[in-house]
Amino acid sequence: MTRLIFLGPPGAGKGTQAEVLANHWSIPHISTGEILRQAMKERSPLGVKAQSYVDRGELVPDQLVQDLVEERLNQPDTPSGWILDGFPRNVSQASFLDELLQKRVPDGVSVINLEVPDEVLISRLLGRGRKDDTEEVIRRRLEVYREQTAPLIDFYRERQQLKSVDGNQSLEKVTAEVQKLVDP
Ligand code: AMP
Repeated sequence: MTRLIFLGPPGAGKGTQAEVLANHWSIPHISTGEILRQAMKERSPLGVKAQSYVDRGELVPDQLVQDLVEERLNQPDTPSGWILDGFPRNVSQASFLDELLQKRVPDGVSVINLEVPDEVLISRLLGRGRKDDTEEVIRRRLEVYREQTAPLIDFYRERQQLKSVDGNQSLEKVTAEVQKLVDP
């Protein structure tokens, strides 16, 4: 059973790797960013609340994202495992997830940290063309990552859950390394 969290800055390849590996293991790929983008497209109440934060590159309030993660992890496709991509994004979300999982999964979760140099991130993000991939918003997303998300590296390292992978390699090579770390 595989339960995996992808950590790493925007543009590190979390979404791409999560998608490939979720297919490989036949488990759901849960991307909070993707769920929010879908909700914004549909203009659902969640989407309307999230929109201005996403457009500015800020984190959506914890409560909104935590509720959506809790609901998603309660779906019937999750007992076989899952990959979380884009959550948790700060220490309070990580503590929330801890509590949620203590209720339902006795054995741990692996955390994969994808490491990619800043110059590479920026050129990848600029090439992606998503609505929140303008230069100004990208700069803010990287700042938010450094201030709020990067502390999770130490959070998970101290708990011996963290495994780091060089994300500045071909897609296939990164996938192979993550696979080796997760099912050796
Ligand atoms: P992503 O697709 O993971 O890059 O997320 C795109 C945007 O969605 C982020 O810049 C945030 O505005 C929002 N978002 C996604 N996941 C979270 C989260 N766990 N907490 C707060 N905001 C999030």
